Amino acid sequence: MVFIFGLLIGSFLNVCIRRLPAEQPEERSIVHPRSHCPHCKAPIDWYDNIPLLSYLLLAGKCRSCKMPISALYPVVELITALLFLASAAVFGLTFIALKWTIFACLMIVLVFTDIIARILPDPITFGGLAAGLVLAFFSVPEDGAAAWLSRRLFDFPPPAPVLSLADTLFGAALGGGLLWLVGEVYFKMRGREGMGFGDVKMMTLVGAFLGPQRTFLTILVGSLLGSILGLLFILVRRKGADYELPFGSFLGIAALLVVFFGTPVLEWYLRISGIR
Ligand SMILES: [Zn+2]
Repeated sequence: MVFIFGLLIGSFLNVCIRRLPAEQPEERSIVHPRSHCPHCKAPIDWYDNIPLLSYLLLAGKCRSCKMPISALYPVVELITALLFLASAAVFGLTFIALKWTIFACLMIVLVFTDIIARILPDPITFGGLAAGLVLAFFSVPEDGAAAWLSRRLFDFPPPAPVLSLADTLFGAALGGGLLWLVGEVYFKMRGREGMGFGDVKMMTLVGAFLGPQRTFLTILVGSLLGSILGLLFILVRRKGADYELPFGSFLGIAALLVVFFGTPVLEWYLRISGIR
């Protein structure tokens, strides 16, 4: 059931991915018009709009004009469903699993709008940041940075929601701040923009969900992924070094890796560095 629910949400994320980056504001509506073929404009009936299944039954072609349907649609649906399943398997049917499925949805939209249109839409980055702040009130303070600081500042520990919100604000400030700083340094050195402000907004959102430690790990992993895949891409496609990579996509993939695999990495690092 979690998998099927994930497929349905993935189908909605496809609409967000296609429409939010549109140039005309009236084309950005995610509720209107109904789904239609981008080639022949024929409306898509419900039985041709079933996640994953319809793509397979139609063999990836539009029913009326037989033009190919982008394989990204079923891919997004499958990735969403698998991430929903992973959240439920790792965190159980809990509030924390709900938090990470919401986060996964935000990351999926940003990863794909950045790949397709090199855009990280404001409704997702700002809306996601707002969601992260609200969810912080109901979350257990996981990061430990606020707890560590409060032990040095106060005789009595503040209540959990305050610590959790503080972690969220530290994470958002670190994520947005670090990316802004890197962008500024690059701009001063090269005299042109190397990183869009969308990446800064995105990492503010990521920081709000992950807290400072996991945010730092996300930037590290995202930069590594970007460097390795970027170099491979330049070698294989023979595009110049100035080819604009979807850095937001790498950050989004890194953030999801950190959600599911970050805890042992952080514990290992804190142990070998003698902090814990
Ligand atoms: Zn068509």
